[in-house]
This record gives sequence, structure tokens and C-alpha cells, in this order.
Amino acid sequence: MDEARLVYLDHAATTPVCSTVLEAMMPFFQKSFGNPSSLYPLAADSRRAIENARSQVAEVLNCRSSEVVFNSGGTESDNSAIRGVAQALRARGNHIITSSIEHYAVLNVCHSLEKDGFNVTYLPVDGFGLINPSDVSRAVTERTILVSIMYANNEIGTVERIKEVSMLLRERADYLGYAIPFHTDAVQAAGFLDLDVQELGVDLLSLSAHKFYGPKGCGVLYIRTGTPYEPTQFGGSQEQGRRAGTENTAGIVGTATALHLAAEQRQSVSEHCLRLRDTLIQGILARLHGTKLNGHPTLRLPNNAHFVFEGVDGEALIMGLALRGIAASTGSACSAGSLGPSHVLEAIGLDRELTWGNLRLSLGRDSSSEDVHQLLDAVEQLVHGQRAEENDFPVPTGSPLASC
Ligand code: PLP
Repeated sequence: MDEARLVYLDHAATTPVCSTVLEAMMPFFQKSFGNPSSLYPLAADSRRAIENARSQVAEVLNCRSSEVVFNSGGTESDNSAIRGVAQALRARGNHIITSSIEHYAVLNVCHSLEKDGFNVTYLPVDGFGLINPSDVSRAVTERTILVSIMYANNEIGTVERIKEVSMLLRERADYLGYAIPFHTDAVQAAGFLDLDVQELGVDLLSLSAHKFYGPKGCGVLYIRTGTPYEPTQFGGSQEQGRRAGTENTAGIVGTATALHLAAEQRQSVSEHCLRLRDTLIQGILARLHGTKLNGHPTLRLPNNAHFVFEGVDGEALIMGLALRGIAASTGSACSAGSLGPSHVLEAIGLDRELTWGNLRLSLGRDSSSEDVHQLLDAVEQLVHGQRAEENDFPVPTGSPLASC
């Protein structure tokens, strides 16, 4: 296949490293390769670059540099945020609140903590994937030591009301006499939503560089000063003792450069994606009956469109698109290949039968209206084709399953 012709509509899975980021990283592979913990000038270059990167990230998050911890990505950030706080506060309580639609990087660490004697409340969501902030507050008990609610969902793109949750948690804290640390997984939010941790009122926040045109295997965990936290990885005293291991200098520089660029371009990229996304959503719903848009109609990421198609096999649809030079996903890339239906689609109450026919399209900076039109034509043909093979598929009723 001619690579130049690839229509890439899977930016929620990953993004390419942009050239400015790559250029910023290059000196740290060969020229300034020193271990930042060593004492000679070569090492000082790396150390300085890491501390500059930390200030750049802190500027975007509106926090202190000392509150920024670099690590290996979103999965590590989520794991260490949850396990780190749970371990530090174990003597105070063993109850954690999260939602039923979190990424597996949150859900599976919660499941593992349950085996260690913690109790976890998995809050339900409504049909749009929205968590009710009052449900979070109501779930708090005197044993609660952590709340973890994602900022934006990686499958259906719904944006959660994080600020409302943090305000309600603060009220509960006033009543209880102690604060309950609040973590948010902002992996899908970066580049599209405001990451100001003071505005959001969060104590911990996870980021992953490869979602915003930075390198893979690099991430950030914001930890507010004073948040009880125990490291989950042991070794040297890097990252002020919060994350052991020789720093990935090039990756850290790449992460900070990418985040800085993403923040600078947030407004224009969001507007660009929003325009394309709305054309895409309207096009799909108008062309294909028996189709439902998942996620919230307005509280959603500007680059996400997620559908289910009645009488369609999502994986076959993805393969058909791939043969036409279009990259897209069914649900999240991380769960591709798993046997069960998406836990997010189950949580929003979709019929199990319908969950198989899903398609996630996620736009990016370089997506174009040609990409969208190519996609629309291809999906229309493929869905009609699959349905024609399924002779018993109902004749068009003129009313889509739902057209939010
Ligand atoms: N959290 C969310 C919401 C994600 O979408 C992802 C990746 O898709 C992760 C966490 C894991 O991030 P990483 O791929 O950097 O481990």
C-alpha cells in the first residue's frame, strides 16, 4: 500500500512524533548522552535539559516544577497515582472510588488492589457516558482514600465534569476534616482540553506523550505538593525519589516540547477537528440508517466520533477500511483483539449485540476534509455491503437508532 495515501483516523490510539519534537530530542541520543546523575559537564547538559522540560510542563499544567514526575507513559502514571496514594493512605482507609468506563490502566490496578484488601466502587455512567458528580460525593465514606475519574473517555470521547467533582470533594473534605486525593487520567484530554490543575482542582493527573505528537513510552504524572504518595518503583533517587530509574532525557525533552506545542495550538487544532468531526457525524448519520452516535453530543472531545452500526461486524469494517487505506479502530486500540465486548459500551447500556458493530474515528492536526469524505464513502459502501450479505437486515425505517 502507498503509505502517502494513508488516511489516518486513529489519533486516539497514537500520533506521529512531529518534526519540531524530533529535532528537540535528537541531541540527547548521541551528543548530550550523559547520565543526568553524573557529575561532569556532559551530564549537566542532560540535567539542565530535564529541568527545562519540567518547567515547560509545569507551565502548561499551572503547577510547580517540583510537582512534575516524568515516567514511561499513561499506564505507569495511572498505576503509580493509584497504587502510590493507596499505599500511602492504607492506615487511614481502604476505599477507592472510580468509574466503570476508565481505561484498563486504571481499572486493572483497582482490580489488583481489591486482591490486596481494598474496596473499590465503580460508579455507573448515564447513556452518554457521563458520571454524575453527586454520585462521586455520595459514594465517599470515612474509609475513602482516593477518587480517580478520567477527564475524557478514550472510546466514546465523553468529557467528564472534573471541576464539579473536585468542588464536591472539597466540600466533603471540609465536612470530614481531611482531604481525599483526586486523580484524573487526562491522557486523551491533552491537546484538546485545559490542563490547568488549579482550575480542575485535581491532586494527581496522568499524561502520555504519544497522544500529543510526542514519543511513545514517555509520560507525566502531576502530584500536588502534600499529596500522600509512596513510590511504586524502587531503585535510585531520581525524580526526587518518586520514580527510580535513569531518566529518558530525549523522551523527557520530547514530551515537554510536544506538550508545549499542543497547548499553544490547542484552540486552532480543536476548532479544526471540531469542524471535521461534525461533518463526519452528520455524514454518517445521514447516509446510514440503523446507526447510533455514542458519547455525549456536546461534552465530547473535538476529535472523537464513535458509532455503532446495526447488523455490522466492527472488526470486518476496520479490515475493509484498512484495505482502502484508512486507519480506524473499534473502541480502544489497547483492547483490540480482546474477546469480550467493550466495557465502556456495556456501561452506557448498549445491547450486547450492537456493541460488536462499533467504529471509533479520531481526528488530528493534519486530518483534512478529503480524509473525511473518503471515509464517508468507504464506510457507506462497507456497511451496505455487510448488510446485503446479512439478508435478514431490516429495510430502512428512516429513523436512526438515535441521532444525538
Ligand atoms: N489512559 C487512557 C485514557 C488512554 O487512552 C491510554 C492509552 O490509550 C492510557 C491511559 C495508557 O497510556 P499509554 O499508552 O501511554 O500507556
